[in-house]
This record gives sequence, structure tokens and C-alpha cells, in this order.
Amino acid sequence: MKNLIDIHTHSISSGHAYSTLQENVFEARRKGLIYYGLSDHAPAMPGGVHPYFVSNLRIIPETIEGVRILKGIELNILDENGKVDVEDRDLASLDYAIASLHMPCFSPKSEALNTQALIRVMEHPAVKVLGHPDDSRFPLNVQAVIEAAAAQHVLIEINNSSLRPTSFRQGARENYLKILSLCAEKKVPVICNTDAHVSFQVGDIDLALALIEEARFPYSLVVNFSHDLIQEYILKPKQKK
Ligand SMILES: [Zn+2]
Ligand SMILES: [Zn+2]
Repeated sequence: MKNLIDIHTHSISSGHAYSTLQENVFEARRKGLIYYGLSDHAPAMPGGVHPYFVSNLRIIPETIEGVRILKGIELNILDENGKVDVEDRDLASLDYAIASLHMPCFSPKSEALNTQALIRVMEHPAVKVLGHPDDSRFPLNVQAVIEAAAAQHVLIEINNSSLRPTSFRQGARENYLKILSLCAEKKVPVICNTDAHVSFQVGDIDLALALIEEARFPYSLVVNFSHDLIQEYILKPKQKK
């Protein structure tokens, strides 16, 4: 199976990442990806982008070196009502948004409120991916999150960086095994992303794929291998079921 896509990547615009857009895209091409998505950290993250950065993404070409470029952002969930840190009109100009819980922007709350924050943010028309819902520091009702993802046509991310031994997120492996089992049962697709903060990581989803294999998760529900699922969940405007 060939990986076609990586849409969770950061450039130097994120403040704590180390490569340019061009370096990332060249690595995407080298790894044979068809789609590369740029998703720098939104403004509330320390060192994140300025609001103008989001509206100016339109100047980036649609294709670079034969790789189709998708313009995105990694939103910070700010509160239990799913408030995010980019204006709706700017989000409407993007191909996609990933919504994530990050310590500097959202202090962990009860399981019920963490879960509510994710469910509410998935209702946003720009949010197509739930970023790294794998961190035991933010306890979640996983079943409720997956049911909401299915209803809101949002992809659950399997984040390759969370699975690295050096990751500061906690419990990702165990949390993903639970997530994959429920997604398989409910036929909810997932996307493997790198969350690359340096170009060399772009397109490398080996740890996520090893876990998918271990969990015996069906490849037919992995967006990375399917042009049809990429079309339905990423390229098209979001559809509610
Ligand atoms: Zn980051
Ligand atoms: Zn993140």
C-alpha cells in the first residue's frame, strides 16, 4: 500500500519547527506523496502564526514540483465550547483545518468537558481532522468522540509523532489501540499524519502503520491509501451525514 498524503506538517512559521514550506514539499515529492498539506500552528500557540498568515495562504501555488498543495491550519481549541483561534472568514478560504488540544491553550478539564470541547469543535464547517486525540493528560470519552466524528464527517488522526518514544504526549499507544478498535467497529475512517516539525519527518507514517497492522484495522478505512476517501473527506467541502 502506498501512502498518498500527509496533511499535518509544520514549517518555520510555527515558531518551534525547523523547515521551510519548500523543504517540506521537496521531501513530500521524494517520498512519493501526491498531496502535501501545510498546517502551521494557529495564533494562540506561543510562536504561532499571525492572523494575516492564514488569509495570505492563497498566494501559495496549487501544485509545487508535481505535488498537490493543500492549505490548512492546526487550530487550537480554546475552551469547552470548541472556540478556536482563527476567524470563520479566514477558515473558509482554506482547504481544511485540524483541531487539537494543546497544553498552552487549553488546561485539561474533566473527561466530560474535554470530550465536549472536541465534539463542539467538530461541528465547525472547516474542521475536517481531529488532531492527536491520544493524550492521557486530556482524558476523553473515546466512544462519544468517535460517534461525533462519524456524525460530523471528521477524520480521526493517528499521529505518528505521538507514537515516537520522545513524544511528550502520554499513553498514545494504548489510547490509539482503543480508538482503532472502536473506529473499526463503527466503520469510521482514520488518517495517519506525521505532525512533522522538520522536513525529514514529512510522509513518514511508519509507527502509525505498525499500530494499524497490530490492531488489524482494515486498510479500506485508512484515508492515506484511498483516492476516494481523500476526495470525500479532505478535498470536498465538509458534508454532514
Ligand atoms: Zn508544534
Ligand atoms: Zn498539535
